[in-house]
Amino acid sequence: MTTRVTFWGGRGSIPTPGPGTARYGGNTACVSLESEDDGRLVILDAGTGIRLLGHEIVRRAERGAVSVDLLLSHTHWDHIQGLPFFAPFFGKGNVVRIWGARQGDVDLEIILRQQMHPVVFPVPLDELAATPKVEHVKGSEFTVDGFSVCTTRLRHPGHTLAYRLTPVGGGASMAYVTDNELGRGGDYGEPPTWRRDLERFLSGVDLLIHDAMFTPEELAKHRGWGHSSFDEAVTLAAAVGARRLALFHHRPERDDAGMDELVARAREAAETTGKRLEVFAATEGLTLTL
Ligand SMILES: [Zn+2]
Ligand SMILES: [Zn+2]
Repeated sequence: MTTRVTFWGGRGSIPTPGPGTARYGGNTACVSLESEDDGRLVILDAGTGIRLLGHEIVRRAERGAVSVDLLLSHTHWDHIQGLPFFAPFFGKGNVVRIWGARQGDVDLEIILRQQMHPVVFPVPLDELAATPKVEHVKGSEFTVDGFSVCTTRLRHPGHTLAYRLTPVGGGASMAYVTDNELGRGGDYGEPPTWRRDLERFLSGVDLLIHDAMFTPEELAKHRGWGHSSFDEAVTLAAAVGARRLALFHHRPERDDAGMDELVARAREAAETTGKRLEVFAATEGLTLTL
């Protein structure tokens, strides 16, 4: 089965609109994965990029009901802030299933409800025309409409999940691994086998989308922040035999010229691995076929 991956937002931490970021885009994390055969759609994260995706979904459905699965990596603002503006929420009969991890002892639903509490947003979660269904990810494998999903926990504050998705009928897989500290620093309570487990989890993936927020020079000052540098992402992609690496979670301070430079350095790093690895930056509006 052929699938299409589209980047709706690749920025980390906070949206960065303006002429300096217009090429790579300023919207925060949101990626869609769609089956070319039947149009089944899964969304990864609900940063501000999800707003335009929501309009596109409603437009395509014309007057029919929308049924969609949304997988949340975690609930930091840049991964959920677009959700109140997700157009399918406002259509009667639409079903939006939201998957993610409980944060400590706080249910996902409570976090999403607080985000739409009347003191901060005019429409509460309970008064949406659509039916949102919140599902806690419990085991490491489950199935959403048309895709098998595997998860593993990342090194980042809070309970942050990576997702690997493969079409149920077979086909190339993609992995969404953002907000992840590959290097030393930070204490996230992970087991000693964490790196080996992560490499096994990602083994042979076609497309790896990975946190590449920092340059190595910047990372030296940001250890323990829960993020990686582009060269760490390249090393991981090469180790697991990924075919393509999308650098993700761009630093808000990095403008388009800075992004060009980061991508060029990442490509140089990829060449030194001796692997056939295509490296690029997640760019708003970019669609790939798997
Ligand atoms: Zn983030
Ligand atoms: Zn985060």
